[in-house]
Amino acid sequence: MEIDIASKRFLAEQVTSIARIALKNLVGKGLLPWPQIYSKEFWDVAVSEGFSAVSSFRHNQPDLSPELLQEFMDETNEILGEVRETVEEFVQVTKDHVNEVKLSLKSMDKKDEEKIFRDDIAELRQKNKQLEEQARQTEEKVREQAKIIADLRAKVRIDSLTGLLNRRALENDLQKELSKVKRYHYPLSLIMCDIDRFKTINDTYGHGIGDKVLKNMALIWKKSVRETDSVYRYGGEEFMIIAPHTTKEDSFKLAERLRKKVSTYRFVVEPPDKFITITVSLGVTQVRPDESVQDSIDRVDKALYKAKKDGRNRTVVL
Ligand code: GH3
Ligand code: MG
Ligand code: MG
Repeated sequence: MEIDIASKRFLAEQVTSIARIALKNLVGKGLLPWPQIYSKEFWDVAVSEGFSAVSSFRHNQPDLSPELLQEFMDETNEILGEVRETVEEFVQVTKDHVNEVKLSLKSMDKKDEEKIFRDDIAELRQKNKQLEEQARQTEEKVREQAKIIADLRAKVRIDSLTGLLNRRALENDLQKELSKVKRYHYPLSLIMCDIDRFKTINDTYGHGIGDKVLKNMALIWKKSVRETDSVYRYGGEEFMIIAPHTTKEDSFKLAERLRKKVSTYRFVVEPPDKFITITVSLGVTQVRPDESVQDSIDRVDKALYKAKKDGRNRTVVL
């Protein structure tokens, strides 16, 4: 497609404006303009701010992959850590300097102060005060930025409805656990759970009640596992547990305990006293040291599928 000079200029102006807004947004969020993050922000601005001439060039913009985002977060955190150290050092040196100046001012003879250096000393006092304030502000800013990054990192790993860890976190953590299993040879199990006939609950009582059931379910799960086990929301009404140092036999017992606990729990659908009971199906497997994360997820998924096929409200080990 041939573009004439006037259109080119117009496009260039739009690109400049978008770039400026995108950068400003990133800085505002406390993010470093990493290429992939910047690219995403650029196109988001182009589309959301209505820069249609530019946004029409956006073809199949790939979504930021979870791995990439996690990598970005890790790297940003690392860089921020280094920046923080440098800034802290600078702040310390500045503070020492400020204190030194303060002390020497104090120890000066009153007479000298009045007669000889009065103006100079006043200026020095003023500058010293400014420096002190600057050091304080810098410290404050770095602390704020560190908090923003920490919050973002947490958000990337947490499911907003249930507060459980999300699927992205699961894949990340499972990869790490698997590497440890390879080195230290301990048993590691996966438990996958899917609520039976959940669609009927949504259809009968509405999506809001469905959401409430999911939140309660998440609480039951969190409260029922050991501290070393991690619970994840894997998908809509699917949960996963990573249980380190646990064989599949012990995981089966845990899964059965959970299944029975859920089946007797009263989920309130119309307060104060109308409730329903729910059942879940579970799959259990023990991770093999020589397989991939995907292999183990596939097998636990298969076990769960079998539990459904065999009639639901049961646990299958594979
Ligand atoms: P099965 O026993 O075979 O698992 O049946 P099911 O109805 O549970 O399974 P199906 O996969 O047919 O339906 C899952 C339902 O979960 C459909 C979807 O609307 C619902 N769902 C997924 N995520 C959410 C959510 O965040 N909130 C609510 N309320 N419902 C959700
Ligand atoms: Mg499902
Ligand atoms: Mg289901």
